[in-house]
Amino acid sequence: MTPVSHEPPADDAGSEDSLPFHSETSSPELPATFASLGLKPDIVSGIASVGYIKPSPIQVELIPHAIAGRDCIGQAQTGTGKTAAFVLPFLHHWRDSTRPGPQALILAPTRELVAQVAEEARKLSQDRHCRVAAIYGGQRIGPQLTALKQGCAIVVGTPGRILDHLSRGTLQLDAIEYVVLDEADRMLDIGFRPDIERILKRCPKERQTMLMSATVPDSIQRLIHRYMVDPLHINLAPVTLTVDRIAQSFFTVEEDRKFELLLRVIARERPRQCIIFSQRKKWADRLYAQLKRVYRGIAVIHGDLPQSQREKIMQDFRDLKIRCLIATDVVSRGIDVSGISHIINYDLPEDVESYVHRIGRTGRMGKDGVAISFVTPEQGDWLTAIETTINRLIEADSIDGFEGFTPRAPAVPPPPKPPSQPVYGRSRRKYSDRL
Ligand code: AMP
Repeated sequence: MTPVSHEPPADDAGSEDSLPFHSETSSPELPATFASLGLKPDIVSGIASVGYIKPSPIQVELIPHAIAGRDCIGQAQTGTGKTAAFVLPFLHHWRDSTRPGPQALILAPTRELVAQVAEEARKLSQDRHCRVAAIYGGQRIGPQLTALKQGCAIVVGTPGRILDHLSRGTLQLDAIEYVVLDEADRMLDIGFRPDIERILKRCPKERQTMLMSATVPDSIQRLIHRYMVDPLHINLAPVTLTVDRIAQSFFTVEEDRKFELLLRVIARERPRQCIIFSQRKKWADRLYAQLKRVYRGIAVIHGDLPQSQREKIMQDFRDLKIRCLIATDVVSRGIDVSGISHIINYDLPEDVESYVHRIGRTGRMGKDGVAISFVTPEQGDWLTAIETTINRLIEADSIDGFEGFTPRAPAVPPPPKPPSQPVYGRSRRKYSDRL
C-alpha cells in the first residue's frame, strides 16, 4: 500500500471526539432474501409457493453472480441447495422462447441425480411453463424422444445418454446458453471426461458455464481452464482444514485504540493485500474515511453498494489496484482472490462460522496467510468460543510501545487456579487468563 503523505497517522488514531466509533443507530446487515439476491418477483413468488423461506448459503453466494452472467465454480456438498442455486439464475433470464432446441444443458453423473435435478427444476419453474426433459440410460428411449420433440428449455442428462441423442440427431445444442456440470468430480471419477469434453465442444462458445463440485482436484482445474471464462470460485465446502495453514493472533484493545493499532499492524506487517472486517456497514464506511487519509489503494465494500459498484471494486481488488479492502461479512463470502496475505478482524465476528469464513479468504491456493483479530477486553468469551471450535489456541500478539488497554488491578487476590481441563486434547487456556 502506498502511504498518503503529510498525514501523521498517530494524530488520527487517538481522536475519539472526531471519530465516534460506535453508533447506536447503526444496525447489522439484514439477512439475505430471495428478492435481495436480485431475482425477479415472479421467480420469488414461485420459490415461495415451493415453500423455501430463505436462501441457503450457496444460493446467497452464487445467485447474484450467476444472474450477472459470470461463470461460477460452486464448491458445496449435496444437500446444500446447490440445484436451486444454479437453476434459479437460468429461470430468471429465461423468456418463453419459440426458438427450437433447449437453452440450458445440465450434465450430472447418475440417473438418480438427473431425476432429482429435473424434479427440482420442474418444481421451481412450474409457474413459468418452462419445460424440463430428463435424459438418462436404463429407461426406454421413446418417452425421452417425445419430450425432446415437444420442445423443452432445460435438458438434464447423463453425458453418455446425451451423446447418444446427439449422434441420433434427436438433440441439438445450437441454442444452448447455459451449461451446468453438476457433481463434476464424480463425473470425472466415473470416467465421463471424454464425453463431457465432446459435449462441451458442441455447445456454442457464447454461453455461461457453471461447475458444481464438492472438491476441485487438478483434473477439474484442467476442465475449468479449457471450458470456463474467468470463473468465480465460491467455496462453501467445510473450511476447518484450511485454517490450519493460517497464522492466527489477537490483540487485546479498547475500542477507541483500534485505529491506532490498525496503523501499527499495517506498518509492521506490510500486507501484500488485506481485508479488514468490520461488523457494521456504517463502521466500515467510517473506517474507510479514516484509512484513506493515510493510505492509497483502499476501498470499502458492503451490501448497500449497488452490484455494479461491488463488481468494479472486486475487479480492482483482483487487479491489485486495491490493496486493502474494508468489508462486512455479507459480501465477503464471494471474495475469491488468491493473493490475500492478511485478514484483519477489526471487529470480532459474533459467531464462529463467520470467523472461519473470514480467515478462509487468506491462505488460498496453498499459500500461507495471516489473520489478526482485535478483541476488546469484554469480548474474551467470544475468543474462547472461537478457539474451542477451531480447536486451536490463538496467540496473543503485541507491538512494542503500544498499549491496547489498561489492565485492571484485581481488587482481591485471585483464587487459586483449578487444574486445567483438556479441550480436544489441549489444555484449556481461557482468554481471561491471558489478560
Ligand atoms: P440440493 O442437494 O442442493 O439439490 O438440495 C437439497 C434439498 O434442499 C432439496 O430437497 C431442495 O428441494 C431443498 N432446498 C433447496 N433450497 C432450499 C431452500 N432455500 N430452503 C429450503 N429447502 C431448500
